[in-house]
Amino acid sequence: MKILVLNCGSSSLKYQLFDMENESVLAKGICEKIGLDAPQMSHTPAGKDGFKDKKVVMPDHKAAVQLVIEALLDKEVGVISDMSEVDAVGHRVLHAGMHYSASVVVNDDVKRVIRECFDLGPLHNPANLIGIEACEALMPGTPNVAVFDTAFHQTMPEKAYMYAIPYEYFKKYDIRKYGFHGTSHSYVSKRAIDFGKLDPNNSKVIVCHLGNGASISAVVNGKCVDTSMGLTPLEGLIMGTRCGDIDPAVVQYIANKEGKSVDEVLNILNKKSGVAGVSGVSSDFRDLEKASNEGNERAKLAFDMFIYKVAKTVGGYIAAMNGVDCIAFTAGLGENDGKARAAVCSYLEFLGVKLDDEMNKLRGKEMVISTEDSKVKVLVIPTNEELAIARETLALI
Ligand code: AMP
Repeated sequence: MKILVLNCGSSSLKYQLFDMENESVLAKGICEKIGLDAPQMSHTPAGKDGFKDKKVVMPDHKAAVQLVIEALLDKEVGVISDMSEVDAVGHRVLHAGMHYSASVVVNDDVKRVIRECFDLGPLHNPANLIGIEACEALMPGTPNVAVFDTAFHQTMPEKAYMYAIPYEYFKKYDIRKYGFHGTSHSYVSKRAIDFGKLDPNNSKVIVCHLGNGASISAVVNGKCVDTSMGLTPLEGLIMGTRCGDIDPAVVQYIANKEGKSVDEVLNILNKKSGVAGVSGVSSDFRDLEKASNEGNERAKLAFDMFIYKVAKTVGGYIAAMNGVDCIAFTAGLGENDGKARAAVCSYLEFLGVKLDDEMNKLRGKEMVISTEDSKVKVLVIPTNEELAIARETLALI
């Protein structure tokens, strides 16, 4: 069984082709700057040379899918001889609103729902649908599966997902917390239960997905009960360039003072805020650490604010679940930065959380980083959203 996984962003398309016999990656790559100036493509086949940043003609996502197919079939850099070898395509889709709590095989109804959710995911849902329709046109007969970023969080109870605004806005416009990074939270929480040897039917897990985008979820017996992102990915933690939780009145205040529209302010809160905005240095935590070590106070402040918010959110979820068995760190920062993990856990010492300092120096692999006598297991679980999408796709076909 071979499964192609596509992740269409607003101007990019990432892909991986899996051989599901052994879950190996046969080829992976990325098409960038789709529809913009100077689009380019990188393709890495397993066991041989591919190409990097090749200039290509790519006016839209359909052209990008066509180029992916050509690369997979190519005599030199290809890995298959016919597209009929691909049994299904799994698509990462951002938003399913309240319609789906699990992945689905794409049909006309599913496409209608993805279209209906364009307002909720204006940058991603249209690109996701184009990716699906391109596959339907270029690979007729091959099933497409939609794996939604919001699906895992659909088990949240009402009290967690409702906003305290007039109820009619929920009724009229479906305004509520949805949560994102669902594929990652689902994958990591399941691995945490397995790898951490927890009882699947009696487990309380907190997943800290700390990357450029960052979110936390509270998972009881494998089901999400709360998560930090909201109607959009802007809510919750401080992120690379997103502000996370702020007083909504700040929007009006900046708009009035700076003569900007709400859309312009939201753009600032999404793209120019977070640790990048506070530090004035970078959205990348490696740059922050370097600047901080060189005495840059704002870089240090940005890091401290980020960690403080993570710790407060974890603390809130421990109360929400009335306990915690395991805290799992994942994504770029969570998998690689022992200092950040230690800084978060230092807020949780009162709970009996103890880190094994030697283990915590390691990075990028599944590991227990708490001591034997720690009251809470602390794990690092590298996330693998593409593999999770491939598994979901396989399960559905
Ligand atoms: P992601 O969005 O999951 O790809 O994570 C990207 C972020 O992870 C980057 O912006 C970095 O801040 C952080 N990161 C990646 N590798 C490291 C590392 N070795 N040490 C510290 N931070 C890292």
